[in-house]
Amino acid sequence: MTDWIAAAAALSPETRLFIDGDYRDAADGATLDSISPRDGSLFTRIAAGDTVDVDAAVRAASAAFESGVWSRADRRERQRVLIRLSELMLENLDELALLESLDSGHPIGDARRVDVPNAARTIRWYAEALDKIYDEVAPTPENALALVRREPLGVVGAVVPWNYPLIISAWKIGPALAAGNSVVLKPAENTSLSAIRLAGLAAEAGVPAGVFNVVPGYGRTAGQALGRHPLVDKVAFTGSPAVGKGFLTYAGESNGKQVSLELGGKSAQLVLADVEDLAACASSVAWGIFYNAGQTCHGGSRLIVDETVHDELVDEVLKVGRSLVLGDPLDELTQLGTIASGVQLDRVLGYTEVARSEGVSVHGGNRVRPTGLEDGFYVEPTVFDGVDNAGRIGQEEIFGPSLAVTTVRGVDEGIRVANESAYGLAASVWTQNITTALTTAQRLRAGTVWVNTFDVADVITPFGGVKQSGAGRDRSLHAFDAYTALKTTWIDLG
Ligand code: NAP
Ligand code: MG
Repeated sequence: MTDWIAAAAALSPETRLFIDGDYRDAADGATLDSISPRDGSLFTRIAAGDTVDVDAAVRAASAAFESGVWSRADRRERQRVLIRLSELMLENLDELALLESLDSGHPIGDARRVDVPNAARTIRWYAEALDKIYDEVAPTPENALALVRREPLGVVGAVVPWNYPLIISAWKIGPALAAGNSVVLKPAENTSLSAIRLAGLAAEAGVPAGVFNVVPGYGRTAGQALGRHPLVDKVAFTGSPAVGKGFLTYAGESNGKQVSLELGGKSAQLVLADVEDLAACASSVAWGIFYNAGQTCHGGSRLIVDETVHDELVDEVLKVGRSLVLGDPLDELTQLGTIASGVQLDRVLGYTEVARSEGVSVHGGNRVRPTGLEDGFYVEPTVFDGVDNAGRIGQEEIFGPSLAVTTVRGVDEGIRVANESAYGLAASVWTQNITTALTTAQRLRAGTVWVNTFDVADVITPFGGVKQSGAGRDRSLHAFDAYTALKTTWIDLG
């Protein structure tokens, strides 16, 4: 444990913008405070990019795209460079994990085992796909030949949140760069350090200047400037519904750029009466919401449970919650780290009051002040029982370690309540009946449905939502659709 604290103290991270192949300060010299959620202290100050910096980054990205140095490079060259980037991420695993943990409050163990390896695997997976995808020849009449080829779009703006900074960045950068686009990445203001470091590693791997730029800064300035820039061809966004809708407005009021959105959820974990292994189910339900202190877009924040198993299951979930080691993200034994920011901490704690006002039974819901880290952003695992799904606790995305429990009778009511949400990112169903499992999976309105498990996934499957959880898919080969345009070439054969 002391090793990580010593390593953190010895760290002097790069904090500047990365534009056109070099680190530089913001044009106006502005910085923003990077607060460590671990203890609430000022960890460092990072450059705060604004409109002029975004403009410089986009122009560099556009010039690089037009030059063809990356966009028209041999696919195997792009493949070699991106595989090297993924290797460099793993060679620098401890440093990247430490930056991620300090910035976001992820337990260092999770950052080392999950965040960095997953992000590196994503980059590698898209690189490896590059020489395995074929284009199409259309079924024309005999006197013609029509080629349908995928081409990169141009400049991609990626705007990402603070809950999984590296992983979500990799979901965008991986397919975007593999396809030959140039990228300008705007990380969340409170979790920019790993993205800033990633830019240096990309350059070291051989990504040419201008192809990958990182502009940290505030959303309303840097983020908006990217959304409105006329030379940006596409924005890939993950974050809140309000800001996601803002990007549609920016696009509509500028150049009509393409926008893909991943806007979170209120995912239902539906447990039916015939669930066999209640202990396994409880562990899955608990981890489905408590992992990363509930700051997961598809977090299983609603437990919709048949009345016959409610009492036993909720008891078991509470037991799992109490057993989790909550505390210092820099302690390798920690299972539950912090809420990522003070603003989010207040939001999460505010819902304890909302729950009380809605007459819900509250188990937990309090701030925790570990010894020596009293000003850190810690919240205990929380279960809100007896929730009316139509109320605020049942409908609003809390984005904290807070599980809302609603009791139902039978599968039809369960599905109806699960679907009674503005969101549709993910869901699960627990049952031993294969027919019930399959029909329920079909009827749940969500981009992903798990059966007898939760949150098992990989880059090999698409991820994204229906309804207000967004449009477009990250991960899998389908993600290339978001970063390419189809070009038809019709040839007259006489
Ligand atoms: P957010 O504001 O939507 O932030 C996401 C990204 O958008 C950040 O890079 C942010 O920059 C940027 N942004 C913010 N305002 C912008 C604007 N007006 N124009 C352009 N870009 C803008 O999310 P949040 O405020 O951090 O979190 C609020 C809630 O969103 C959470 O409580 C949670 O419910 C939900 N959320 C969902 C996800 C998800 O994975 N789907 C992730 C995070 C949060 P700044 O960092 O400067 O704000
Ligand atoms: Mg924000």
